[in-house]
Amino acid sequence: MPSPNQQNLKKKNAEYSEKFNNGDLKLPPGRSTLSVCPRLPRPPRRHASSQEHRTDREPTPVTCMDARIDPAAAFGIDLGDAHVVRNAGGCAKDALRSIVISQQLLGTREIILVKHTGCGMLTFTNDDIRAVVKENLPPAASAELGTTDFLPFPEVEQAVRDDLAFLKQTTTIREDTVVSGWVYDVKTGAVKSITPA
Ligand SMILES: [Zn+2]
Repeated sequence: MPSPNQQNLKKKNAEYSEKFNNGDLKLPPGRSTLSVCPRLPRPPRRHASSQEHRTDREPTPVTCMDARIDPAAAFGIDLGDAHVVRNAGGCAKDALRSIVISQQLLGTREIILVKHTGCGMLTFTNDDIRAVVKENLPPAASAELGTTDFLPFPEVEQAVRDDLAFLKQTTTIREDTVVSGWVYDVKTGAVKSITPA
């Protein structure tokens, strides 16, 4: 049985993808701007809202930083509803620091993990990006990055399953956390639910 937050995502996304007409956007952002933490986190409300779809346990969506994704509109998140954690690939491991803060200090209990079609993470390997860093930056940069795993992946649905498995086994998130995995299609604006392995 999908949680109320998952049902809300499905319903709002169906409305969004119905009117979606931005399927031709290019992968590189239109402006060379990197925005970290696009929305300031706000503590969850302590009392259930009168709006039916809400619960007093706001979800924490984790999604990619890709410029073509508008999480608020595409996933039905109102201002003040949720912590949205974004990073390259919507990687759970990379989001862990924010998830622990969100759960332990701000009371969230649900994770909605959304990766997407056409992700840049499908296009390179660790060796590729290390070579680019070596070419473009001083040697100290390669030393500082060391064996950093940039967490690229070759197949998006499998990558969602891998992240769901990671979230299931890590001891750093609460045992009662509701976790779900999704793939957002940048051509249609629609999400697809991914069943854990
Ligand atoms: Zn991406």
